[in-house]
Amino acid sequence: MLGPYRYHCPQHGTSDPYTFKRAAHDFAEEHRDEFHGGMHPPGECFVSPEFDIRGNSGASSAVIAFVLVMLLAFGSRLI
Ligand SMILES: [Zn+2]
Repeated sequence: MLGPYRYHCPQHGTSDPYTFKRAAHDFAEEHRDEFHGGMHPPGECFVSPEFDIRGNSGASSAVIAFVLVMLLAFGSRLI
């Protein structure tokens, strides 16, 4: 799934958007090395509103579909 992905550091703010998650992670690693001695700053996160919305709803649908399939499978065995 395409971005934009942003790396957010509570102390230094939010990065520019990156199309690929990998690029945002690479930026984060460089940022940690340069400003935080290679450590993860408290409260850091990756911001991707598009991914959060679609990703969560997609995951929920997948779980519901999985539960339905399992119910059908076990239901038919019981009968
Ligand atoms: Zn920082």
